Amino acid sequence: MLKTYQGSCHCGAVRFEAEIDLTEPTYRCNCSICSRTRFWPAIVPPDRIRVLQGQDGLTKYLFNSRRNEHWFCATCGVRPFGIGHLPDGTRIYGVNIGSLENVPDEVLAAAPVVHVDGRNDRHAAPAIFSHL
Ligand SMILES: [Zn+2]
Repeated sequence: MLKTYQGSCHCGAVRFEAEIDLTEPTYRCNCSICSRTRFWPAIVPPDRIRVLQGQDGLTKYLFNSRRNEHWFCATCGVRPFGIGHLPDGTRIYGVNIGSLENVPDEVLAAAPVVHVDGRNDRHAAPAIFSHL
């Protein structure tokens, strides 16, 4: 069921809210950026996320194809979300579940996780993924 969650960076400069169904798949990936940041996103279309405060405090990091936008708070470094693209080009947000506020541990623990072999550009689980 979709629920509206409040989210923030660590220092509080950035605040957002997003409608997320945490019984739908979430993602862990072994690519260079996800492994370094321990990013754990829920996938959300643009009309289900709103930056409420601190857009000016966000910095966009681009690399490689420069198509995916890795947004982080310039003060505390937390990544509230990233923006990627579906195969048809549609913009899609990856909301950092770790940035959501007041999510019960039972809900986080029950969220289904799909493991992705981003390091090899594969949308399938890598051979080893329990550490992700
Ligand atoms: Zn911050």
